[in-house]
Amino acid sequence: MTYFADLTPYTYFERQEDEPGVADEPWPDLPLLNVGWLDAAHPFPTGAPPDGLMPALTDLAKTRVRQTRGYHFCEICIRDIGGDAREAIRQSAIARESAEFQVQGDGVVYAAPQLLLHYVAAHEYLPPAEFCRAALAGTI
Ligand SMILES: [Zn+2]
Repeated sequence: MTYFADLTPYTYFERQEDEPGVADEPWPDLPLLNVGWLDAAHPFPTGAPPDGLMPALTDLAKTRVRQTRGYHFCEICIRDIGGDAREAIRQSAIARESAEFQVQGDGVVYAAPQLLLHYVAAHEYLPPAEFCRAALAGTI
């Protein structure tokens, strides 16, 4: 997985356009913005999440978008282990995911990796305020 700064235009994969056999994007006509594409090399904002954010994200992430065949492992966990992380990966001690989820904002859609939930829970990542507001509003 590649690092993308929060709230930059989404460019990781081409957007899905009526591909047979592939679930449609929930909001295909709105601009997509990146949120939560972290890696170990770039600093990210941290802090206590707003009340209710984790349950809201857990609910939103049930709709998996752009499922890939391979896993992406949390690069922050790998960095924190130091040295050779292969044994930890073999033992499934590293968080991993293989899809994205989307959150509808005000005229935009946020594209987030499923690992965002892990980043918030384990690494105190604090997503942008507008993303948090959209996530909380989307589950009321
Ligand atoms: Zn991690």
